[in-house]
Amino acid sequence: MQSLPIAIIGGGLSGLYAAFLLEQRGIDCILLEARDRLGGRIAVAKSSVDQNASSQSVDNKKSNNGFDLGPSWFWPEYQPQLSSLIEALDLPRFAQFEDGDMMVERAANQLPIRTQGYQSSPPSMRLVGGMAALIDALYAGLNPTRMITGQIVKCVIKTERCINIESESSAEQMTAGQITTYHAQHVLLALPPRLAAANINFEPALPQALITEWQETATWMAPHAKYVAVYDSPFWRNQGLSGSARSAVGPLTEIHDASLVEGKGALFGFFGVPAHVRQSVSESELKAHCRAQLVRLFGAQAETPTAEYLKDWAQDSLTATPADASDASQHAVAPNAKPNRGVWQDCLTGSASEWSESFSGYIAGAIDAAHKAVQGLDLSLSDGLSSSASPSNRIVDE
Ligand SMILES: Cc1cc2nc3c(=O)[nH]c(=O)nc-3n(C[C@H](O)[C@H](O)[C@H](O)COP(=O)(O)OP(=O)(O)OC[C@H]3O[C@@H](n4cnc5c(N)ncnc54)[C@H](O)[C@@H]3O)c2cc1C
Repeated sequence: MQSLPIAIIGGGLSGLYAAFLLEQRGIDCILLEARDRLGGRIAVAKSSVDQNASSQSVDNKKSNNGFDLGPSWFWPEYQPQLSSLIEALDLPRFAQFEDGDMMVERAANQLPIRTQGYQSSPPSMRLVGGMAALIDALYAGLNPTRMITGQIVKCVIKTERCINIESESSAEQMTAGQITTYHAQHVLLALPPRLAAANINFEPALPQALITEWQETATWMAPHAKYVAVYDSPFWRNQGLSGSARSAVGPLTEIHDASLVEGKGALFGFFGVPAHVRQSVSESELKAHCRAQLVRLFGAQAETPTAEYLKDWAQDSLTATPADASDASQHAVAPNAKPNRGVWQDCLTGSASEWSESFSGYIAGAIDAAHKAVQGLDLSLSDGLSSSASPSNRIVDE
């Protein structure tokens, strides 16, 4: 049995960025991702996907027509590290469209009103092709044989020689249900702290105080759901409307223009209806309510989108736990990223966005936390470890 220096659990932005940084340092690693796609909370739908396709058919392949079902925005002025990465990866960006008036719905018995819109300052920026462009660009620089999807990590066991990481093949895999054990010297937890505490069994157990901290750290946006309606063109702009709206009626509370930089128009909205209510209504019914709301706000043309997508993150067990059913009003305070005593002290580090002290819960936080975690490894890894692995190493016991 041979082990790799690092195993990364989770293939969202933080996991991929950690792998990217390790690759730059010549440190071998393996990344285990539970879903059958990479990106985590970064998920993009394509306009070519059938409008009746379920939200699970979302993929993240490189394309210039992605509609974000997860994060859409970043703020270069506040988030220079993320902005520099996007620049280095040569990813084109553009400002959120906010020109024109906005619509406001105050009550069910009142007609929506048109009011002066406002421009965010500094502007919220989007990526051409959606946020998945960032995932694709990072993945392009990595060894694909080390990025393993469809592996749900269940158990992380510290032995005298190394750490055993036991994962189960997901239902989508030919090998569904099969348990595989990977071996590493250090584990990066690139999944939200609350999810790690809920779904991964650590042997020996982590200090209870640390587990409690992780359990109490809300996963940003996990209680939320996003609806996207795609049109042939952004017709609302012809009426001097920005596509922004606020509503006390719902089901969407906050609506924005989600159009491609050229071509297709789109509107997206966040649901104001709580997760438990959404769960009691079918997806087609929810979409019908969303369409009706867009007609009230933007007129009859909104009735016939060419495609519609709904992603309910609260119902996705690889993002949300039952504790995420209610909304967290603000970004979490970053919990401790590693135990400060015991056998796990120097071999386990949290690297997902919620562990970022500066941008907890944001995509900039995923970059920051992964960077700090990898920096910490530079100090703790011995020279021997960082150079020992070769692609021919056998790292899996099946
Ligand atoms: C609707 C929505 C809108 C958002 N809007 C914005 C925005 O505009 N701007 C912004 O900055 N941020 C926004 N965010 C937050 C942003 O998406 C996150 O901060 C970021 O994507 C977190 O990346 P991560 O890699 O840390 O975590 P994740 O993306 O959650 O990645 C964790 C990964 O771990 C995997 N995983 C989970 N359990 C296991 C397991 N047992 N074994 C193996 N793998 C596992 C998951 O499948 C996932 O791929 C939004 C989020 C959502 C949902």
